Amino acid sequence: MYLVCLPLCCSAALPKIHIIATGGTIAGRTASDGKGYDAGQVGIDVLLDAVPRLKKYAELDYEQFCNIGSQDMDENVWMALSRLVNEVLSGDVYDAVIITHGTDTMEETAFFLNLTVRGPKPVILVGAMRPSDAPDADGPANLLAAVKATASRRCQGREVLCCSAGKLYEAGRIFKYDSHAIEAFCSGNGLSGLRRGMFDISSVGVLPKVGIIYGYAGCSTLPLRAFIDNGFDGVVLAGVGMGNFYGEVMDLALKAAAGGMKIVRSTRVVSGGVFTPLGEVNDEQCGFIAAGPLNPQKARILLMLALTRTDDTAAIRNYFAK
Ligand code: ASP
Repeated sequence: MYLVCLPLCCSAALPKIHIIATGGTIAGRTASDGKGYDAGQVGIDVLLDAVPRLKKYAELDYEQFCNIGSQDMDENVWMALSRLVNEVLSGDVYDAVIITHGTDTMEETAFFLNLTVRGPKPVILVGAMRPSDAPDADGPANLLAAVKATASRRCQGREVLCCSAGKLYEAGRIFKYDSHAIEAFCSGNGLSGLRRGMFDISSVGVLPKVGIIYGYAGCSTLPLRAFIDNGFDGVVLAGVGMGNFYGEVMDLALKAAAGGMKIVRSTRVVSGGVFTPLGEVNDEQCGFIAAGPLNPQKARILLMLALTRTDDTAAIRNYFAK
């Protein structure tokens, strides 16, 4: 991890933005054999130099926090990133933070940061679906859109946002719905009661262990058994339909919940969510928690953060009911 502070512009009237680079396709480069590309190859200095117009809208400095494909993001990176953003925004120096990030797990990082970064100052994640040296590279336009949105002050007091294909998406609603198209993101339903910065993780050393199990016809019990045997604190079931699961998995989940493991029912279906008592499972009777509108990957994050506060299933249910 290394830090460079290089003022690109010095106008007092311009907002001051700290850019934190984490990698992704926006920093990707075509592979040496010309087949495909590698994410997280190019430094943030090079990416910023490619868009000289940024200087018109903001005073920028930058930091190369890491340079990875976002498929390699994990809880430790999120915790360190969240602490850094809180620190950067706590003083009077910076008006906003922009984070360059891969698109694969952007919705997860944004959701985590939204729940753990305090204050009203804008935080925007920006990525790209084409590597930096592609003829149709979308990173430069996305960077410019993020800086312009921040400079316009219309992002003040909002959730953590993601910028892609010229649009802004709220962390609580964004999800990736296309693995290849430049218009890769969509906005779905979120939990309106989740407030930015509502979880203080400053004294949390390690996040609780929560896994996800994907449902399918004839689903094996092996993944759930492995999570139980390895001491996971919770599991999110990405169930079929409204959070249903193959009978043998449901039976094991019931035993796990009775033994203290937190079981959150979400769904592999992109829209509609899992609400109790609408469907076929009575969560209160089973000791489960319904994920509401959250997809499995966001439900996992909320469960991890809720578990830093309480072990009580009913109290955790309240976070998902907000
Ligand atoms: N695998 C890349 C990443 O998430 C994909 C992207 O950025 O679009 O880092």
